[in-house]
Amino acid sequence: MEKAQKIKESTKFPAEESNKRIEMCKLPKNKMKSRIDIIKVIPKEVQPSISEAEVIVAGGRGLKDKKDLAMLEELADLLGGQVAVTRPLVEAGWAPYTKQIGLSGRTVRPRLIITCGISGAVQFTACMNTSQCIIAINKDKNAPIFKIAHYGIVGDLYEIVPRLCGKIRAYKLYGDSIGSDDPVGKIVSLSNQ
Ligand SMILES: Cc1cc2nc3c(=O)[nH]c(=O)nc-3n(C[C@H](O)[C@H](O)[C@H](O)COP(=O)(O)OP(=O)(O)OC[C@H]3O[C@@H](n4cnc5c(N)ncnc54)[C@H](O)[C@@H]3O)c2cc1C
Repeated sequence: MEKAQKIKESTKFPAEESNKRIEMCKLPKNKMKSRIDIIKVIPKEVQPSISEAEVIVAGGRGLKDKKDLAMLEELADLLGGQVAVTRPLVEAGWAPYTKQIGLSGRTVRPRLIITCGISGAVQFTACMNTSQCIIAINKDKNAPIFKIAHYGIVGDLYEIVPRLCGKIRAYKLYGDSIGSDDPVGKIVSLSNQ
């Protein structure tokens, strides 16, 4: 009984204890106004998920600088796709986590994926190896990515990606005269299906 009394006393509000009163008062409207002015509202851009992408251009540690991702963006734009990356690029702060393919990232299954400067570690390939068409660009002919790629290009991505962009642009302009069995024609038609 004594214990219950103590608990009741301790739950008393301070105002009750000191006989203070709550007083209602009117504040001038200008004092209530926020001092923050909204200049412009920019809606947050909703990026489609790489898991839903039909075409992906993926970049890895073969890239020397964050700004070089623009080259992959250009290729992805030409093919109507998205750029994705390997984990080291996310860890370096070059791309958000939502763009990471792999065991600790997203699983993708696009119609076409072009990997650029990616070695093909199992933590990466396990989450993209069911893609319909895998084209790998790597300067090391022994890179494991070539074991799962349908088409491989051994060479420097800094030479190959710009050349590929130029050829795709030309194909889009003069495709009929180049013919659809041209390798670039096949890439373009895969991206358009
Ligand atoms: C628990 C765990 C979870 C992991 N989860 C993931 C994950 O979700 N996703 C993921 O990606 N990784 C993950 N990893 C890391 C993974 O093991 C690899 O380290 C990572 O995938 C390697 O990324 P990379 O291919 O970009 O780099 P690297 O392995 O360094 O390969 C770079 C490649 O670029 C090539 N290259 C270099 N320069 C050029 C050039 N100029 N032109 C062409 N090619 C070039 C090289 O020959 C090399 O093959 C995980 C690891 C662990 C332990």
